[in-house]
Amino acid sequence: MLSENFEKRLIKLWKLVDRALDGMLITSPENVRYLSGFSGTEGTLVLTRSTGFFLTDGRYATQAKEQVNGFSVITFRDKFRELGRLIKKLKIRSLGFESGNLTVAKMSDLEKNVGSVALKPYAGKLDSFRTVKDAEEVRVLKKAAFIASESLREVVPFIKPGVREIEIAAELEYSMRQKGGDDTAFRTIVASGYRSALPHGISSTKKIEKGDFVLIDYGVVYQGYCSDETCTFVVGKPTAKQKRIYGIVKKAHDLAIKAVKSGKFLKEVDDMARNHIGKMGYKRYFNHSTGHGIGLCVHEQPLVSFRSKGKIQRGMVFTIEPGIYLPKWGGVRIEDTVIAKSSGSEIITRSDKTLISVGL
Ligand code: ZN
Ligand code: ZN
Repeated sequence: MLSENFEKRLIKLWKLVDRALDGMLITSPENVRYLSGFSGTEGTLVLTRSTGFFLTDGRYATQAKEQVNGFSVITFRDKFRELGRLIKKLKIRSLGFESGNLTVAKMSDLEKNVGSVALKPYAGKLDSFRTVKDAEEVRVLKKAAFIASESLREVVPFIKPGVREIEIAAELEYSMRQKGGDDTAFRTIVASGYRSALPHGISSTKKIEKGDFVLIDYGVVYQGYCSDETCTFVVGKPTAKQKRIYGIVKKAHDLAIKAVKSGKFLKEVDDMARNHIGKMGYKRYFNHSTGHGIGLCVHEQPLVSFRSKGKIQRGMVFTIEPGIYLPKWGGVRIEDTVIAKSSGSEIITRSDKTLISVGL
């Protein structure tokens, strides 16, 4: 028996794909987890419109029996041979598959084993069916964001002149794991001084210095779901220029969040941040999208960009993260994760976003 959430997710999947398909092959770990609950790394789903099978290897046999919701579990020795056998047995004639997730070698194995079955590739479309989160996902996403923000709060007193960026990153990651995180959502970025001008600067052995901006972009994975938040601190008292740049980014961030509401175009949210930064003269120093969807993947649909065509739907969860990066001088990014509602949004990342002086 499928639980209600999984049943609804399956319905969403079948609505999204071609009516002529009588089978779907799900291979990406995120979609396998989304549809079955399995959290391991070797899992494949073969779905028909009336039934479903979960395939894994011997290492995961026990875990699959405990986690997989509503599907018969098959343990294989040779994955593609087993897939071929099952697809023939189920009399599938037209099979959709995740082309973004199948290597050329695996594709060739699949073709060899399924005989005359018509294979229909699905790329981006299958990622879009996770954009609207259900109540259970929202609960887990909020918990992930909470664990991360609490961890940062504990680590802030540790940010001082003389401490290396990687030491701060390590403290933060340790704290997130201590609080129940499964992993970090991505490599923690602690970028200070001139390095804060690198939008994806990772963390180096550079020591924090007085007067530095310290940009911390970090996230945790909790029960499979990611958090994502960026805070930019200043070591000591900010200069007038630091205050000004921070103020522009903060205003862009606030304007964009204010614009979030179901029914609006995603592009309108990007416009709010981008236009403000542009008006203040820093257009070319904001060189990435305003935000991205987040869930089982740290970067997923929808993209909050000037290129986005879609509209915001209630229950979408995405980041708002404008920034200004001045080469050799430094940069500021302020990032929160929000849930879109019918009237506005709810911010789930918890850290204070006013300019905070540290290391005093
Ligand atoms: Zn981030
Ligand atoms: Zn982000």
